[in-house]
Amino acid sequence: MSVAASKFQLSLATLPTGFHHHRFEANGVGFNAWIWRGGTGPVLLLNGGTHGDEYEGPTLLRQWIDNWRPTQLRGTIVMIPVLNEGAFFAGARCHPFDSGNLARAFPGVRDGTETSRLAHLFETEVLMQATHYVDLHSGGNAYELHPWVGYMTGGGRVEREQRTLAACFDRFWCWAGPFLPGRTLSSAHKRRIPAIYVECRGAGGVRPADLAVLDRGLHNLLRQLNCLDGPVGPLEKQRFRSSRDAEEAHLQVHHPAPHDGLFACNILLGDAVRQGQPLGLVWPLTPGEPAVIRAERQGTVVACRRQRSVRRGDALFTLAPI
Ligand SMILES: [Zn+2]
Repeated sequence: MSVAASKFQLSLATLPTGFHHHRFEANGVGFNAWIWRGGTGPVLLLNGGTHGDEYEGPTLLRQWIDNWRPTQLRGTIVMIPVLNEGAFFAGARCHPFDSGNLARAFPGVRDGTETSRLAHLFETEVLMQATHYVDLHSGGNAYELHPWVGYMTGGGRVEREQRTLAACFDRFWCWAGPFLPGRTLSSAHKRRIPAIYVECRGAGGVRPADLAVLDRGLHNLLRQLNCLDGPVGPLEKQRFRSSRDAEEAHLQVHHPAPHDGLFACNILLGDAVRQGQPLGLVWPLTPGEPAVIRAERQGTVVACRRQRSVRRGDALFTLAPI
């Protein structure tokens, strides 16, 4: 084993077979990883906590670390329950020191802000060694989502493989869309690493039903990659939407609050709405009429603001044509 010759802090290719813990750390940022190293095969990277207020991915991965003991594993599974520890302990989406959104900071730089350094560390020490990648997200504290699995389109072998991996999470619907910069998936995309993300419900909690979908989906995915023996599925037919509009699945840009105030939501997740239909209200804290938020398009409500205090520009709803 020639660790000294490796350009990585921890070379996954030369790690002995078995279960390992390693803390990746550099320039004042770091995260904990648990690694199952089996025989020859893919290197699957799984992480939660890219955003600090999303708890389904961290919970599922922590359960796997405690309980999952695969026999005859082919390949290597890297599990990072909480990637963004600063944001996690702040209970916030973004890092408390620099207000940075880790999902907009990739590829990052070695001597940048905390968030930028964290992106750089993750990309250069872990993501670069992966052959496949799954980033586990959710609606966090402020949003509630109609859960889905997604990926960046781009054609060719990578997109076909991503579609196959996404189908493993058959109890969520699937949303594919064009490249957006700054994400973990953006870095994977540039490196031609098949990568998907999962969005669980969020709303500040962890639904057992979402954990069950993640657990089933990841087991299906491991069989799909031939890391584990056994059949995939049988899979249910997945509702599927592939968009050419990069902004369609960009949750932070739709139905912005026109002013600060108190938000009231008048529809339910999963409702089908028509263009122009009233979805909710924003009352100012001063005397005055509330602003009526109307549907910008026809579609299904797939994201809804849960936190009722809103600032001007906060996204309130996302609709998808499914
Ligand atoms: Zn997220």
